[in-house]
Amino acid sequence: MIQTYKPSNRVSLIGLIGLALTVLSGGVALGIGAGYISRYVWVILLFPLIVGGVAGGMLAFMIKRLHLRNPGVALFAGLLMGTLCFGAFHSIEYMEFRSEMVAAVIKEDPASEPAQIESFIDFSLQEETGSSGIIGYFKLMAREGISLRIGKGNAKLALHGTLAWIYWAIEFLIFIAFPALVALNGADEPYCEQCRRWYGEEAYLGSVQLANTENFLALLQSGASGGAATLLGGASIELPRASVYLRSCRQPGLHASHLSVTKQSLSGKGETYSEPLLSGLISPQIASELRRTNTQPAEGVAGMAQTG
Ligand SMILES: [Zn+2]
Repeated sequence: MIQTYKPSNRVSLIGLIGLALTVLSGGVALGIGAGYISRYVWVILLFPLIVGGVAGGMLAFMIKRLHLRNPGVALFAGLLMGTLCFGAFHSIEYMEFRSEMVAAVIKEDPASEPAQIESFIDFSLQEETGSSGIIGYFKLMAREGISLRIGKGNAKLALHGTLAWIYWAIEFLIFIAFPALVALNGADEPYCEQCRRWYGEEAYLGSVQLANTENFLALLQSGASGGAATLLGGASIELPRASVYLRSCRQPGLHASHLSVTKQSLSGKGETYSEPLLSGLISPQIASELRRTNTQPAEGVAGMAQTG
């Protein structure tokens, strides 16, 4: 029997607090950092991808550390982190814009009151764009055009009007998509609820000739692991083939192991490529039978590597 792995959806209170702190402080800090960097150098699309990637990496690390195995909570955390990061990033740009305006007004009229200058800026934005505050600022930027820039004012390509809004929408999607997808994947990784640990790294168990794959999987499904094991050979089996990997928890003799079967073939260019065929949990008995008959040297057998 191969049982589909389903995350338990469990989150501890400490896990939730840690996640909330990561999302709030990490998202805001990353956005502020990116905002300050963008004063000197910013490349559209590429830099948002880097920011999204860093946010995703932070979140994935914490999800692993905090043993968070609730994909719904993880997805929400990723979306929120990306949104906060995006908000902080553009808030820094907006604040920078306002302080430049203040400096310009003071240069003109050194006697002006700060409160007066602030309301003058909002009044000007309202006059120019029909909106005050950050919305007015966005409208003004869209009119002036945002540029793919390396260093300030060094425009290589300017996006105006609707194109600027479309760009910001794409940028927002990049900011939220990375952390959301990475978090979702992280919380969906196999976890042993008895050991309270994530399963270890994948260990190669053996390969099956492609023609025998369906038979192999059917035997495993029906619990005839002995028959399945006889079809299992080593890495010398020619491509295309199906390769079998196992992930174990701390007590592979007592708890289920995580099995994944991948089809490996040669592309037209002669490169090996893999596509997942099936994954799920198998009983300790079936796992030990597969391990016993596997033809690999001892270090590849048990996959005792533990993480988390
Ligand atoms: Zn276990």
